Amino acid sequence: MARKLSVKDVEVEGKRVLVRVDFNVPMDDAGNITDDRRIRASLPTIRYLLDKGASVILATHLGRPKGSVVEKLRLDPVARRLQELLGITVKKVDTVVGEDARAAAEALQPGEVLLLENTRFEPGETSNEEGLARALASLADLYVNDAFGTAHRAHASTEGVARFLPGVAGLLMQRELDMLGEVLGEAQRPFTAVLGGNKVSDKLGVINNLLGKVDDLLTGGGMCFTLMRAMGLSTGASLVEEEQVDAVREALKRAEGMGTRIHVPLDLVVADRFAEDAETRVVDARDIPEGWMGLDIGPRTVEAYREVILASRTVFWNGPMGVFEWGPFEGGTRGVAQAIADSEAVSIIGGGDSAAALRKFGLEDRVSFVSTGGGASMEYLEGKELPGVAALRDA
Ligand code: ADP
Ligand code: MG
Repeated sequence: MARKLSVKDVEVEGKRVLVRVDFNVPMDDAGNITDDRRIRASLPTIRYLLDKGASVILATHLGRPKGSVVEKLRLDPVARRLQELLGITVKKVDTVVGEDARAAAEALQPGEVLLLENTRFEPGETSNEEGLARALASLADLYVNDAFGTAHRAHASTEGVARFLPGVAGLLMQRELDMLGEVLGEAQRPFTAVLGGNKVSDKLGVINNLLGKVDDLLTGGGMCFTLMRAMGLSTGASLVEEEQVDAVREALKRAEGMGTRIHVPLDLVVADRFAEDAETRVVDARDIPEGWMGLDIGPRTVEAYREVILASRTVFWNGPMGVFEWGPFEGGTRGVAQAIADSEAVSIIGGGDSAAALRKFGLEDRVSFVSTGGGASMEYLEGKELPGVAALRDA
């Protein structure tokens, strides 16, 4: 994808700027925000615009109200939290593009912030309806997309609006594109990708797009068993996606021709059932007992993977090495995360569960970059064009 203009490349002083953020934060039943990281992630963009003398109109979705007003999904708690974090008043209106939204946008002065209501209260949001896109565009002079996590969706506030207003990338969006772009572009070699997680079907697009770009592909998690099956190894009762075996075999063959070494585990932590308190054993990956399932990579594998990671200059990681949510099966993910933290490589982490694992082990600050976009980062790494990015002005 072509490089995009960012908010730093354009004049913003005195302008009304509509910023699409991803403030889709988790909330408890009482409506308290349980994790405000997504709000914090866009503070640099908001502060930059305010410092430069722009007025800032924020738009975000929250949850899945499916085109109608859901009281629990109003953005008032988000406005309050943003106000605490910014330390200045955040105005909030109860519609997305209604009369009050228009009036508040028009009255907004440089240095002031307005939060529109949940964009998904509008039925035209997810259907990318032109009327809504035009109405959003009419509120401002410039559009900034900082919502990388929603950039794989062509919605009115992420894509349509940029047809009626010049659009540029926010600072978070820019950093996501730069860091993930490194994975696809000029990564320093040796370059190692560590892929795990649940299903190989979610990862095959990324695997195929990384072949030839990475020197070593280290696999674990549930997905490695379909690889092992495709290699002719027995997998016991482990998670295997039978319908993916042919596609995986194809990828393995291509990898050979493209100079990417694909590694599968040497040993495994196996369990007699899928449960936290299952009976467990550490076995050679070639000797999975009948009826047992691999729920983590074993210590020899961690050691071998660690060596590859420590010899790398770039590491991309997506997908835990095991069922890390359960203590008995967290060791592989912890070991790999620790190796990535210890390495001097540029390290880029994608995927919600991988990021959660890093946090669980307290290693979040020891890597170069943790992507805020789960689905969006995977689609980007599959080589797909993200509509919310494509709609922005080329540099
Ligand atoms: P990410 O969100 O980082 O992209 P995924 O969503 O692909 O990662 O996968 C995460 C899930 O995979 C975790 O909930 C984890 O419990 C599960 N998982 C990891 N290893 C296994 C395994 N061997 N068998 C079954 N599930 C697994
Ligand atoms: Mg996940």
